[in-house]
Amino acid sequence: MYIVPESAIADILTRPDAFNAVEQVFAAMSAGVAYNFPVIREAIGHEEALYGFKGGFDGKGMSLGLKAGGYWPHNLEKRGIINHQSTVFLFDPDTGKVAAMVGGNLLTALRTAAASSVSIKHLARKDSKVMGMIGAGHQAKFQLRHALETHSFEKVIGWNYHPEMLPSLAEVAAEFDLPFEAVTLEGMTEADVVISMTSSFNPIFGAAHISDGTHIACMGTDTIGKQECETDLIVKATVFTDEVAQSVTLGETQHAVSAGLKSRDDIFELGAVINGTHAGRTSDREITLFDGTGVGLQDLAVAASIVEIAKAKGIGMDVDF
Ligand code: NAD
Repeated sequence: MYIVPESAIADILTRPDAFNAVEQVFAAMSAGVAYNFPVIREAIGHEEALYGFKGGFDGKGMSLGLKAGGYWPHNLEKRGIINHQSTVFLFDPDTGKVAAMVGGNLLTALRTAAASSVSIKHLARKDSKVMGMIGAGHQAKFQLRHALETHSFEKVIGWNYHPEMLPSLAEVAAEFDLPFEAVTLEGMTEADVVISMTSSFNPIFGAAHISDGTHIACMGTDTIGKQECETDLIVKATVFTDEVAQSVTLGETQHAVSAGLKSRDDIFELGAVINGTHAGRTSDREITLFDGTGVGLQDLAVAASIVEIAKAKGIGMDVDF
């Protein structure tokens, strides 16, 4: 078994590697050669932790395995470690023998950022100039950095429920020599691309805050009950997702679908656009929305890429297991 500890991931995984792994696995899912297993997520009744498993099998990339982990809300204050904790296990699809154990914390941040960037590449207007952020927490910075690397923007605007957190977005914009402006939600209409990355359980923005032609990546909603955007925007937009089954149950479309405002048949896989079996955006005035729910296959694809690079660079360790 090959072990790549969390401490080594930053030296191994580049943003382009994460982007390529996620783009390829979305394509494989849509082609029907990769599938996710049902997600398990449990409140374990200890430390108020949410623990679970996300797994799958990619018959093209040949990765089989799972990510185990979750959210321990008191880690930072009690122990000085981050609240999200996870580890990826890969298995040999030919034998079932465990093949690798990979630190999953930074991996999760980078695979999530890669997902919204893949959506920007395939769905945003090519003349997009203004990047809008809703949310300014831990994950939002990763999303913004990835987006600014994927497309050439001229300006970043941002809104956050806790405005004191906005300087962290300004810092990321400055890394790319781009100006940053804090805006009201009404000011978000200036954006050509919007990423929402919050932990909200109530809608923050809707059709009134998004201009025609915009691409939105809704990335915060990954649990039953969470919601970032009003259902009017889900109805108005052409909606894409990583996996339809997850989108309608625990993703951003769950509320519009359960209210009968959107049919699951009108939600399309981003992988189909990557594969060319869906046209994607068809006009400059169309609003496209990517519901990024976060699937286990993203984790496996990026972990497999990490193991390959780690072996080539001689990082990590091989254990006879
Ligand atoms: P964080 O705690 O660092 O940041 C939370 C963000 O939400 C901040 O911007 C905060 O101001 C905002 N917020 C908090 N309460 C709010 C409210 N009531 N209304 C509006 N905004 C509010 O968390 P994070 O690590 O940045 O993660 C953000 C969310 O993304 C979490 O819900 C997490 O579960 C989710 N997530 C999704 C994926 C995926 O693949 N889709 C991956 C990782 C994390």
